[in-house]
Amino acid sequence: MANCLRRDLRQVLSAGKVLLVDGGIGSSLRALDTPKDAHSYLDRLNLTHPSAVAEVHRAFISAGVDIITTNTFQANELRCPDGYTVEELNKAAVCIAKQAIRDHVKNDDKNIYILGSVGPLCTGNVDDAKKHYTTQIETLLDAGVDGLLIETITHTSEARVALEIARELQVDIPVIASICLVKDGILPGGESCMEGIEVLNTLAIDAIGINCVDDMDLLVQAITRMKSTMPSLPVYTCPNAGFPDEHGKYSLTCTTYRDIVHTLHKLGVRIIGGCCGVAARHLESIDRDAC
Ligand SMILES: [Zn+2]
Repeated sequence: MANCLRRDLRQVLSAGKVLLVDGGIGSSLRALDTPKDAHSYLDRLNLTHPSAVAEVHRAFISAGVDIITTNTFQANELRCPDGYTVEELNKAAVCIAKQAIRDHVKNDDKNIYILGSVGPLCTGNVDDAKKHYTTQIETLLDAGVDGLLIETITHTSEARVALEIARELQVDIPVIASICLVKDGILPGGESCMEGIEVLNTLAIDAIGINCVDDMDLLVQAITRMKSTMPSLPVYTCPNAGFPDEHGKYSLTCTTYRDIVHTLHKLGVRIIGGCCGVAARHLESIDRDAC
């Protein structure tokens, strides 16, 4: 069953149809009544407040997404706080995501896929990356995700290690890799956008993209260059909903988000969701036929 789903996901990713991915898991969890002291490490909510994590998944599923991502952005050996283990955080996250899908699809045969979120370590140290990522990736795969999302990449060297670990464990696991861009269109680790994309493009990844970007001009420029460099590879994009105010609230309207999605779609992006601040209501506002 699991293998069958994974093959399906690969086919779905490359089919060229619009696929909606969920929005910002972290910002959605912060917007719920979750304990403030968990906000710097939201992955612990998988164990302490699983119903909040499930609520976020269900809201995105109800908004019509095809793909949800696990609440495991920082669930690696480097970030895991005392009192928790990487295994339990990742295992619980996949269980919650699976249950949220089961709750929704009882009377619906729509396929909703789970991507295991693997966030950045932000060190660029390859030896450390192997040490810090192995247990997380092993647990996500064992728990039965349909693919991995190596996201908010700050150094492509880390993403390469994460991918190698995944392929060693399950050679056919679908993987999406997504870089993050800061001011001037570079990765936080210093590579240029196109350097980053070109490195990823050599790694036989199923889709490559950009997430966690606030500047739409920068994003459009980067996507345009990506599409001209690798016209046939599926492109994934999850922009932010601008900047939060002093209360942590994001002001992006659904109409503006819909316009952004429309622009991305015209540029050839087919796997579209949101990062920080993008809520279920934003995704709900998308007219998939018009995109
Ligand atoms: Zn973000």
